[in-house]
Amino acid sequence: MRPYEELIVPIPDYPKPGIVFQDLTPAFADGAAFAAMVDDLAAHFADAGITKVVGAEARGFIVGAAVALRLGAGFVPCRKPGKLPRTTLRESYALEYGTDVLEIHADALTPDDVVLIVDDLVATGGTTTAMVRLIRASGAHLAGLGFVMELAFLSPRAVIAEETDAEVFSLIAVE
Ligand code: IMP
Repeated sequence: MRPYEELIVPIPDYPKPGIVFQDLTPAFADGAAFAAMVDDLAAHFADAGITKVVGAEARGFIVGAAVALRLGAGFVPCRKPGKLPRTTLRESYALEYGTDVLEIHADALTPDDVVLIVDDLVATGGTTTAMVRLIRASGAHLAGLGFVMELAFLSPRAVIAEETDAEVFSLIAVE
């Protein structure tokens, strides 16, 4: 077992009854575990020629920025509406109830970029789908998607496969 695995805490009935929230913050807080997590994700994509890592607020920033540093790549944030100061591309995505919007700076990626999406956790794949569409709209090449944890019982890979054939890699799958 890798050191971060035993530090991820399942929290029953959060944020509402019936949901088991996976709390990764203890794994971020442990220096050795956090380093192992970041190294394991970065090692998988080390030979992919990644020039930019794209991550969504808030926990995607924590893992994504660290993986970018490890790969010698830049980091590009996707943010909720109104947080980015310059011209943006926008994409809405489905939540359990309703929709939300993610934005990326319109000039943050170019067609020369080779992009890795990084997030702490993929559940339904909705957030990831919005990021894939933003990267496509920017003209950059999406090379892969890396997650610390995948809620495989929600079948996010099927949702992602409708958007991209880029490789999906996760360190831990919850079946
Ligand atoms: P999705 O859009 O349903 O795939 O949800 C993934 C997004 O919601 C990611 O950005 C996660 O940070 C966040 N998220 C959803 N469920 C959890 C959880 O159990 N633990 C931590 N983050 C979660």
